[in-house]
Amino acid sequence: MAPHIVVLGSTNMDLVAYVPEAPRRGETVTGREFRTFPGGKGANQAVAAARAGATVSMIGAVGTDAFGTQLRTALDHSGVDTDLLRTVEGATGTAHIVVDDDGGNAIVVVPGANATLTGLTHGDEALITSADLLLLQLEIPLDGVVAAARHAREHGVRTVLTPAPAQQLPPELLDATDLLIPNEHEAAALTGAADPHAAAHALLDRVPEVVVTLGAEGSLYAARGAEPVTVPAPRVTAVDTTGAGDTFVGALAAALGEGRPLPSALGWASTAAALSVQRPGAAAAMPYRTEIDAAAEAER
Ligand code: ATP
Repeated sequence: MAPHIVVLGSTNMDLVAYVPEAPRRGETVTGREFRTFPGGKGANQAVAAARAGATVSMIGAVGTDAFGTQLRTALDHSGVDTDLLRTVEGATGTAHIVVDDDGGNAIVVVPGANATLTGLTHGDEALITSADLLLLQLEIPLDGVVAAARHAREHGVRTVLTPAPAQQLPPELLDATDLLIPNEHEAAALTGAADPHAAAHALLDRVPEVVVTLGAEGSLYAARGAEPVTVPAPRVTAVDTTGAGDTFVGALAAALGEGRPLPSALGWASTAAALSVQRPGAAAAMPYRTEIDAAAEAER
């Protein structure tokens, strides 16, 4: 049976400008193209996990504007259960993204409705209790994230936290986290160690397992009492890396929920993320299970 994954997190509309080179402060550049995509780290991870084969429920909030309606519809079409996605008065969250010709990106997030997610309802709690795995990120208020992590811990539900955007984490959140997945910048911000190995080692003082994602270099897995493992990323031509991290986490969660051991799940998640960077957009670029399996087979 497919694993049941609950995601508590942000739902945003991504407003993306494609430019030859990102503008510096005070500079105006002419973009090549503008597109909108459903996004938000929470919704992205939900879509990635659903496409990777999991049964996914999303706890989140959208506003009463047109973006809110579009995002709910997009999640429904991706097969994500939106029963606990609330609609709250006001603006939906937005992410303003600039993508340059090298596939690099710069992002401003305006939280909108996501800012209302400060705690759990009884319905949220019951859903988390029933899950195999809880996915959390930091684009909603920290109070909501901590409440969910603690509830999951109390009920034996494995908790996976993406500490993005980077910020200092309260001890009670780390204490309730089973697997932490920072990118290398977040790992450095959390620990003060620029070297990912050193950062992962330091983070193991607080959480039992850490995966540091390293962009095109792949990822680094570290667990208490075991040698760190580096998992290389497949060599591909990136056109847009937006959402690569969320694709990676969603696919990893689906594989872990099926009971795959972490090192093997990491290889599969890297294959999924490499597929996503070869297409534009975040959720729109996320691969389906059959594609991931076919690509993984071709890499062998
Ligand atoms: P983003 O914020 O762009 O979504 P991130 O900063 O959270 O990404 P990264 O470390 O950049 O996370 O990427 C996550 C994973 O995606 C990497 O561990 C790798 O497996 C894959 N990936 C990213 N960029 C590339 C690339 N250019 N080629 C192949 N795989 C990639």
